[in-house]
Amino acid sequence: MTLTQHMLARIAAHGPMTLADYMAEALLHPTLGYYSTRDPLGAEGDFTTAPEISQMFGEVIGLALAQAWLDQGAPTPFALVELGPGRGTLMADILRATARVAGFAHAAQVHLVEASPTLRAEQAKRVPQAQWHDDITTLPDLPLFLVANEFLDALPIRQFHRDDGGWREVMIGGGEALLTPGLSAPAPIALLDHRLNDTKPGDIVEHCPALPGLVQTIAQTIATLGGTALFIDYGDWRSLGDTLQALQNHAPVDPFAAPGTADLTAHVDFEAIAQNAAPARYSRVTPQGVFLERLGITQRAQALAANLSGPALDAHIAAHRRLTHPSEMGTLFKVIALYPEGAAPPPGLDP
Ligand code: SAH
Repeated sequence: MTLTQHMLARIAAHGPMTLADYMAEALLHPTLGYYSTRDPLGAEGDFTTAPEISQMFGEVIGLALAQAWLDQGAPTPFALVELGPGRGTLMADILRATARVAGFAHAAQVHLVEASPTLRAEQAKRVPQAQWHDDITTLPDLPLFLVANEFLDALPIRQFHRDDGGWREVMIGGGEALLTPGLSAPAPIALLDHRLNDTKPGDIVEHCPALPGLVQTIAQTIATLGGTALFIDYGDWRSLGDTLQALQNHAPVDPFAAPGTADLTAHVDFEAIAQNAAPARYSRVTPQGVFLERLGITQRAQALAANLSGPALDAHIAAHRRLTHPSEMGTLFKVIALYPEGAAPPPGLDP
């Protein structure tokens, strides 16, 4: 049975499904879902991410987390958490870079939140000391120093098209053997009331149902026990437009053609993170390139370059550019942090 057949049967029994339900099945169906069945990262995979491009990404982020930990009085023990760690590369780089920060490794309990058994196995190769969680609800009650890179973009979204009579929601229905997106009848949608003033008929707005609860839970822990959370993703302040994207072999494909075989993501609405940050504070949304430059990635790049030559040096220079340059990941990707009232935001970010 393919995932398309499975979803067609579900639609035949229960009617069309929301885009969020479709994404959840396509990405995380236990036996047929995209993340459940493969390691999608790296050169041979479908897409690549900042930690896979260069070790420098994890190194400077690790030092930023360690500085935030020192600034908050070096709480011991604390939970060092990553959401959606992929192959475990980012956490491995964080741990290596922070190994010489006195007390940090001793105080850190490493917790990884990962739904995919395949990727958990990859993570265990690089971060064997970790404890794994299906979701954030089972994290320990400890000061929380958390990073999530390209995690929120994998969370399912609903999509709404505004028209004169209200909002029409994208619903996935079934034809003969094909999944086909359609639009529901227009209706008012209470959770989009705040978007009535800044949108007009024809506009598209997306909503990530899992994001508010996730951010609220993390913010609550940070406000009461201390810590910080760094969210790094592509997106912007306030969702507008269709940002659903399917990637296979590093190229865009039809998101509905063969669910379970392509990565599905949508841009992250950073305003939604800020709106759910209380009782913690949130930093300014900052472009990834600016953030990494402030953390000293260029100095780190120069130090590493001293030992390189030829093609390895060229690749290293290209990786630095890819992470930071405005025409590459530098501007499309953004960073926002949560931190406690009375504390400074982590290095590289402004209040
Ligand atoms: N952060 C990594 C990987 C990004 S891909 C990197 O930068 O390379 C998205 C990751 O989130 C994968 O590890 C995927 O399995 C995980 N993931 C996606 N949805 C999830 C969910 N709902 N719960 C837990 N993990 C999830």
